[in-house]
Amino acid sequence: MGATIHGVLERNARKFPDKDAFITASNRLTYGDMNRIVNRLARYLLDEGVQRGDRIAVMSRNNEHFFYAFFACMKIGSIPMPMNIRLTPAELRAIFQNSNANGVLYENELSETVAALKSGSSLKHCFSIQESAEASAIFSGENLNMQMDSRDVCEILFTSGTTGTPKGVVFNHERILAIAAAVSANFSLSHKDSMLTLMPLSHSAPLNTFFMSGYYCGASHVIGDFTPKGFLNWIHQEKTTFSFAAPVAYLLAAKDSDLSSYDLSSMRVFAYGGGPLALASYHQVKKAFRNENFYQVYGLTEAGPNGILLYPEEHLEKAGSIGKHPAVNMEIRVARPDGTDSAPHEYGEIILSGDSLMLEYDNNPEETNAAIKEGWLYTGDIAYRDEDGYIYIVDRKKDVIISGGMNIYPREVEEVLAKHDAVLESCVVGVPHEEWGETVKAVLVLKENVTEKELCAFAAEHLAKFKCPRIYSFVDELPRNASGKILKQQVKRDCSLSRSYR
Ligand code: AMP
Repeated sequence: MGATIHGVLERNARKFPDKDAFITASNRLTYGDMNRIVNRLARYLLDEGVQRGDRIAVMSRNNEHFFYAFFACMKIGSIPMPMNIRLTPAELRAIFQNSNANGVLYENELSETVAALKSGSSLKHCFSIQESAEASAIFSGENLNMQMDSRDVCEILFTSGTTGTPKGVVFNHERILAIAAAVSANFSLSHKDSMLTLMPLSHSAPLNTFFMSGYYCGASHVIGDFTPKGFLNWIHQEKTTFSFAAPVAYLLAAKDSDLSSYDLSSMRVFAYGGGPLALASYHQVKKAFRNENFYQVYGLTEAGPNGILLYPEEHLEKAGSIGKHPAVNMEIRVARPDGTDSAPHEYGEIILSGDSLMLEYDNNPEETNAAIKEGWLYTGDIAYRDEDGYIYIVDRKKDVIISGGMNIYPREVEEVLAKHDAVLESCVVGVPHEEWGETVKAVLVLKENVTEKELCAFAAEHLAKFKCPRIYSFVDELPRNASGKILKQQVKRDCSLSRSYR
C-alpha cells in the first residue's frame, strides 16, 4: 500500500474539485474533470485488455492528452513510458524493442508515426488517446480502486545514461513522490502557484521534477509546446508564477521584439537546468524579464532530476558554478575514483545520494551496478569545488552533447554518418555555442567527395533534427592514441570551425 501518483490526483480532485488545473491551448480542466476523465479511460483500457505491468508508450505533444494517458496507465498498474516524439520512427522502434513495449497510447496527430511503428511489430495495444477518451464516456468517472503499492514501478523514462546506448530509467511511486515533495520544498510551492510547463514532457526535468512538484501541492499547470511568444503570452494571460526551461528558451524569449508589452510580474521563479546560463546571458534575461529570480538546477534523469541548486544571488559571484546547495532530500559529493572526497580545486566525479534516485536501469543490472555504488549515483560529470564549496563542471565522462537541453549521443550520430558511401570515418563532438550551450559538429575523413548539403540531407533522413550536425569539418586523419582510440578531446581542440547551419 502507500501513496501513489494517481492517488494525488484523487486527493486534488477532493481538495480542489473546481480549480482550473490543466490549462492548454484548447482546454481548461479542473482537477475534478481530469480525475473523472482518467478514471473513465482507465476503465476503458482495462476493458480492452490492458493489464497490470503492461508497458505502454505514451506519444503526445505537451497537452491534456498526455496526462489522460499517463495517469490512466498508472491507475491500472500498467507502466507509462513517455516518448520523445521528435525521434524518427526507426529511433522509436529501437526503444520500443529494447523496452518490450506492449502498447502505445498516441495522439491522433501522431497516427502516421504510429502506423509506421506498428507495421511488423508485436504491439498488442494501440489506442488513439482522443478516440479512447471519447469511447470511455460510457464508463463511470468514480475513483477506480485497484490495489497498488507505492513500491510498484510506475514510470520508465529513456536516456542514454552514462554510456550512450538508450536505457530505460525506472521509477516507482515512492521515488517520484519523494522528488515531488523535495522540489516543492526547495521552491516553497503551494496550491496557489501556477506552473508553466513548455519543455517536452518526455524529459525527466519537466515531468518528474517540475510538473510533479506543483501537482503534488495542487497547483495549476499551463501546458504547451515552447515558442518564445507562447512563453511570454502564457505568463501574461495566466499570471503563472513558476517556469522551468532550458537556458536557450529564456534567451529566445528575451529577444522577442514585443517583450515590453507582456506583463511578467506574476513570476516568482525562473528555474533552468540541463546546462549553464553564461553570465552575459544571465544579465540579458534578468533585464528582459525584469526579474532576478533565476535558479539553476543541476541533476540528471537517474537522480530525478533533483540534485544541486544555485540561488539567484549567487549567479554573479559564482558565475559558471552549478551551486553547492543539495536538494532537500539529497547529498552531494565530488569524489576521487577510489570514492574518497576530492580536495578543493581537485577534479573528481559528482556523486549523488538520496531519495530521488532511480530504482534501476530497466533490465540492465550491469549498467545499474556501474552507476549506483553503495547508494551513490556516479553522474559521469567531472567537477571541482572551490574554497567555498561551490561546484564547477569541467567535463563529462559520458560521451553526450547537450544542445538546447536535448541530449545527443555522438556514437549514434557517428554510426549514421559512417553509413554514407563517401565517409570513411567520423567523429562527432559538441562545440560551445552561445545560445544552445553546445552544438553538434562532425569531423570526417572522406573516401570520396561529398558536399556538406548532401551530408545534412543524409543525416536528416536517419536522425531527429536536433541530433543532426550543424557544423562539418574534413580532415585527412583523426588523432588517435597508441591503442587506436580516437582522441575526442583533441578533436574538439584542434578542428577549427567551418560553416554552421544553425
Ligand atoms: P539528463 O539526464 O538528460 O537530465 O542530462 C543530465 C546531464 O545534463 C547531467 O549529467 C549534466 O551533464 C547535464 N546538466 C544537467 N544540469 C546541468 C546544469 N545545471 N549545468 C550544466 N550541466 C548540466
